[in-house]
Amino acid sequence: MIHARNLTKVVWDGSIETTVLQNVNIDIEQGEYVAILGPSGSGKSTLVNTIGLIEKPTSGELFLMGHEVSRLNERQRSNLRRGGIGFVFQNFGLIDELNVYENIELPLRYLQYGKKERQSKVNAVLSKLQITHLRHFFPNQLAALQKQLVGIGRAVITQPDLIIADEPTGNLTSACGNKVMEVLSSLNEEGFTIVMSTHSAMEADRGQRVIQLFDGHIITENIKNHL
Ligand code: ADP
Ligand code: MG
Repeated sequence: MIHARNLTKVVWDGSIETTVLQNVNIDIEQGEYVAILGPSGSGKSTLVNTIGLIEKPTSGELFLMGHEVSRLNERQRSNLRRGGIGFVFQNFGLIDELNVYENIELPLRYLQYGKKERQSKVNAVLSKLQITHLRHFFPNQLAALQKQLVGIGRAVITQPDLIIADEPTGNLTSACGNKVMEVLSSLNEEGFTIVMSTHSAMEADRGQRVIQLFDGHIITENIKNHL
């Protein structure tokens, strides 16, 4: 489903050239839960944003759901992203002016779903995440964990092929972070493919596979033994 070949990203940081990703090779199959583990600055966000078509690599190839993405134009990239990828962000990324219901509904509006269908999908997600009672609340009325549950709701509402969660517990206490980890695990059990970045080895252990990043390159890849 995801095949990255020699992905490299070079940026200019002031007057200094920095290699943020260096020859990264990754293969992720449908249904997997893969954790990207690395300290701050190791390139996790750059990597997951590249896989998620938010950023472009400097060189290398990325095959995503059967497309070599450098061959796609902007419109095709954004269609693939909107229909196929759900994002969960460290800072939640909710729209302050929209209530919980509307935040979760928004991706369906972009995809031009009709009102009836939007309603039934949003209600199902609210109920699954046990946040139906929050439907009329605005982000500034929510606790951090509640915000992230809404962020997850928005990510899954389109039934994407892939969920990308970039340090989804970064702004949460460990107890709240645990809850988010449990929700992601149960989404994976339902069949969602998940790529999650974290700086916590304990959190990374939730994945079936841990890819460890350091200074922009993969240092270890460990496949867990399910015995
Ligand atoms: P992580 O998510 O693991 O903290 P990032 O992918 O955000 O790592 O960043 C990796 C490194 O690349 C950091 O040192 C960051 O400052 C640098 N970096 C990333 N993007 C840019 C950019 N557009 N311009 C300059 N430096 C960048
Ligand atoms: Mg980051």
